[in-house]
Amino acid sequence: MITIALSKGRIFEETLPLLQAAGITPLEAPESSRKLILPTNREDVRLIIVRASDVPTYVQYGAADIGVAGKDVLNEHGGAGLYQPLDLNIAKCRLMVAVPFGFDYASAVKQGARLRVATKYVEAAREHFASKGVHVDLIKLYGSMELAPLVGLSDAIVDLVSSGGTLKANNLVAVEHIVDISSRLVVNQAALKLKLSAIQPMLDAFAQAIKQ
Ligand code: ATP
Ligand code: MG
Repeated sequence: MITIALSKGRIFEETLPLLQAAGITPLEAPESSRKLILPTNREDVRLIIVRASDVPTYVQYGAADIGVAGKDVLNEHGGAGLYQPLDLNIAKCRLMVAVPFGFDYASAVKQGARLRVATKYVEAAREHFASKGVHVDLIKLYGSMELAPLVGLSDAIVDLVSSGGTLKANNLVAVEHIVDISSRLVVNQAALKLKLSAIQPMLDAFAQAIKQ
């Protein structure tokens, strides 16, 4: 049995065509089913539906053989026990620093001000500000980062941005680009060896599908 860990939403939707290319079709959709284990057309392949940030953990411990996770999530996790053979080029966005409209970020940084930054991505944020020599107090949040500067929890946020619509709707502007994000295929290192004959054809089919 090959177990593939995916998260609901954009990752599931954008992974579907790649699964299709490998001859794998889920028999139920996670949006309409309450099941967390979804069978596929292949008796030897099943999908499990987990939180985006939990995908690396399931694969690391071998509870799933394969998973799809954003680079944002992988960076926070650290990647221990994971083989990362493919950038799937899906769920693309950018990790950015954003501040309330009118806040002069550049001069705050220049003056050496200590900034309060709210984020779910504390590892990436720590690395980024350290590399720039900016002093920050990081406040860990689990979602809706855009709210933090609006109610005085922080001066700035570090968050994922794609269209910029959410920032705009909350009167925030992106002031610094940290890194481009896309999702990667992750494979449990032991499973890759033990189940190579089942996993390798999937990797090849995914790689082929990405090229097109
Ligand atoms: P949860 O909702 O379970 O807390 P999440 O918000 O991280 O987790 P999603 O919003 O489905 O889950 O995001 C999953 C992945 O998709 C992220 O880890 C990131 O790599 C990518 N992603 C997040 N936001 C965007 C976006 N606006 N555009 C494109 N990709 C995104
Ligand atoms: Mg989300």
